[in-house]
Amino acid sequence: MDRKTIIESLKMNPEIDALVVGAGINGAGVFRDLALNGVNVLMIDRGDFCSGTSAASSHMAHGGIRYLENGEFGLVREAVAERNRMIENAPHLVQPLPTVIPIFKIWSGLLNAPLKFVNLLDRPSERGALVIKIGLIFYDSFTRKQKTVPTHKFFGRSEALARYPYLNEKIKYAALYFDGELLSPERMTVEIILDGEDEGDHAKALNYASFHKVENGQVIIKDEETGQLITVKPKVIINAAGPWIDYVNQDAGIITKYIGGTKGSHLVIKNEELRKAVGVSEFFFENKDGRIVLCLPFHDKVIVGTSDLPIDNPDDAYCTPEEEEYFIELVSRVFPTIKITRDQIVFRFSGVRPLEYQEAKTTGQITRDHSIKEDTIEGMPLLSLVGGKWTSFRAFSEQVATKTLETLGKTRAKSTESLPIRGGENLPLTKEAKEAYVTNLVATFGLAEDYAKELLRRYGTYAVKIAAFIQENQGKTLTSIPNWNSGELVYILQNEKPLHLDDLFIRRSTIAWLGNATPPVIEEFAEIMANEYGWSAEKKKEEIDRVLSVIEKS
Ligand SMILES: Cc1cc2nc3c(=O)[nH]c(=O)nc-3n(C[C@H](O)[C@H](O)[C@H](O)COP(=O)(O)OP(=O)(O)OC[C@H]3O[C@@H](n4cnc5c(N)ncnc54)[C@H](O)[C@@H]3O)c2cc1C
Repeated sequence: MDRKTIIESLKMNPEIDALVVGAGINGAGVFRDLALNGVNVLMIDRGDFCSGTSAASSHMAHGGIRYLENGEFGLVREAVAERNRMIENAPHLVQPLPTVIPIFKIWSGLLNAPLKFVNLLDRPSERGALVIKIGLIFYDSFTRKQKTVPTHKFFGRSEALARYPYLNEKIKYAALYFDGELLSPERMTVEIILDGEDEGDHAKALNYASFHKVENGQVIIKDEETGQLITVKPKVIINAAGPWIDYVNQDAGIITKYIGGTKGSHLVIKNEELRKAVGVSEFFFENKDGRIVLCLPFHDKVIVGTSDLPIDNPDDAYCTPEEEEYFIELVSRVFPTIKITRDQIVFRFSGVRPLEYQEAKTTGQITRDHSIKEDTIEGMPLLSLVGGKWTSFRAFSEQVATKTLETLGKTRAKSTESLPIRGGENLPLTKEAKEAYVTNLVATFGLAEDYAKELLRRYGTYAVKIAAFIQENQGKTLTSIPNWNSGELVYILQNEKPLHLDDLFIRRSTIAWLGNATPPVIEEFAEIMANEYGWSAEKKKEEIDRVLSVIEKS
């Protein structure tokens, strides 16, 4: 449903079953689950969908092997199962990821886990081969039955250096295990939201609409585009505002201290040698300070991260020059011959983990598990979604949706457990099946083969809808970025609710992430968006300035 129709329909009928505040991955997951189960649900976000923490993750669909050390076995077991489900339900957006751990010591860290159990270790220390081996045996044991990804391997120094020739020669071993890579967290979130809306008019999602306050048993929402206030009367409020949960509760009229988030930043680096060094694998290792850091292939670039720093206000999260320095230096620990320079950074991103407030001794020791906190405001139950990981969003959302259904006196009719995510449905998985799919796109819609491959890669089996749209609307190859078509862009504008230019470059596509949002590309996109949305020349310029400033600040 389009924005105008949603706002009009809420004015006509403000009574809804559930209001979800925040359209990060957890809000989106709850929204889809409730929509699927026939609940009259509205989801709002003060910015674009997936513009908070969910856009700042390390792109890993993972069980979190290092949380074993904190004794969080239940969390890891759940996340491993969910990682496997993501690979199965959204194979166009989540792929198995070979992960290499370079190991520099043999015995070190053996006492970490027991000391953490008895609360005697208050700082990270380097983990040696034996500890890593034990961790990987546990990790595999959680996934053995499902066999979605292979089990781990251990290589001695010479085999490791033969396999990964850029690795630091000082390594003693390398371990190889498998997790998953989220190729575009932003597209995945949007696809989940659109799937929810496709369930019918009872499910509505509004970006750029913020939770304002509670008054006389009603919630006042502010349309951030026009400033107008919209009143709704929900039976349940679900606070999925991630690191902003306590702020939303405060606006609702209650003081909570549920979140004690930590900031993490990343860089996207364009360096051909580094890209070659990582190949298809993520390198997951300890920096000199004992912090776990990573280098991960991301299209033709490499993501390097991440930090874990205390922060008070999540609005202040950005990647500092000191973090940049730290990331550049950590690459040299694993790949000492590769020199990274600042001008190779094409994108930076930063976000705050919505971790539960705890008096833990180090940020790494704060639990990554999730929980639902229950309050009541003016007679309305208010559920706050605290903590969690991207990977376990479906399980967390299911628990929240189940509680909401119980509160509403409804029963669960459908589960999201094996539900494909939009373009992940019937995705061709083998090389031959992919080739046949592309050949069919080329023959049916007259697309160039490379572009047909791109569509399949970007949208999974929704490629066929977009190809048909391009044909019907006589879409043209864009001159500034030839692997894009004007029809594809118009399809997104008409179907995926972007309101601003930066929504297109950062969240409906990976163009900005890959450093490809150059001035000519921005101008060509702005022209198409201006035509489609009826923007004035002044508004178009404002949008161009806005996107340039967002990218500059990244
Ligand atoms: C650096 C880093 C790396 C991470 N890496 C991984 C990883 O590799 N794998 C993994 O599984 N997990 C990872 N995580 C964790 C994961 O990203 C988060 O747990 C998850 O994204 C949280 O999602 P969320 O929906 O709860 O919060 P968010 O995505 O922050 O969503 C909350 C939304 O609420 C909105 N909002 C705020 N105030 C209001 C208001 N007043 N009205 C309306 N809307 C409002 C915000 O705009 C935002 O969009 C990482 C986190 C960080 C920070």
